[in-house]
Amino acid sequence: MIQIKDLKKVFRTEEVETVALNGISMHVTQGEFIAIMGPSGCGKSTLLNILGLLDNPTSGHYLLDGKEVGNLKEKERTQSRKGNIGFVFQSFNLIEEMTVFENVELPLTYLKVKAAERKKRVEETLHKMSISHRASHFPNQLSGGQQQRVAIARAVIANPKLILADEPTGNLDSKNGKDVMDLLTELNQEGATIVMVTHSQHDASFAHRTINLFDGQIITEVESKM
Ligand code: ADP
Ligand code: MG
Repeated sequence: MIQIKDLKKVFRTEEVETVALNGISMHVTQGEFIAIMGPSGCGKSTLLNILGLLDNPTSGHYLLDGKEVGNLKEKERTQSRKGNIGFVFQSFNLIEEMTVFENVELPLTYLKVKAAERKKRVEETLHKMSISHRASHFPNQLSGGQQQRVAIARAVIANPKLILADEPTGNLDSKNGKDVMDLLTELNQEGATIVMVTHSQHDASFAHRTINLFDGQIITEVESKM
């Protein structure tokens, strides 16, 4: 599903040049659950953002379903993301001015799904995430664990084949963190391919394979025993 070859990402400001990714080659097979670990600043989010078509690499190749997507224009990246890639962030990134229902509905609105169908699918997804009772609330009325369940609902409502999660349990206590990992595991078992950045060895144990980054390079890849 994903093939990456010699990927480099350099951030340039007036004074400094930061090599965030320094020659990454990796692959992800459809249906896999991958964890990415490594110290702060080693390039994990940069890699995830490129995988999610939020950013382009400076050089190298990114093949998604066999198609080179490493050099798309912003408009083409947005188009390719829609309905195909779902993002979950550490800080939830919900829209504060919208209700839970409206936040989760958004990807379907972008995809021009009809209102009745949107309503049905939002209700189903909120139910699956055990958050139906909060549909008409606003994000700041919810606990962190509830907000992350809403964020996951929004990420998956369009049935993306690829889910990218950047430290999804980073702001949660262990109970809510476990709920999030259970949800991601369930989505993976239903067929979604997942790439998750995490600082937690325990969270990584849910994945099939862990990729360890250091200074923008892959230092080890470890298959899970499960
Ligand atoms: P991680 O997620 O592993 O903590 P990041 O991918 O966020 O690391 O960052 C990798 C390196 O790239 C860091 O040195 C960071 O400061 C730098 N970096 C990330 N994004 C930008 C940006 N938009 N502009 C400049 N430097 C950046
Ligand atoms: Mg990060």
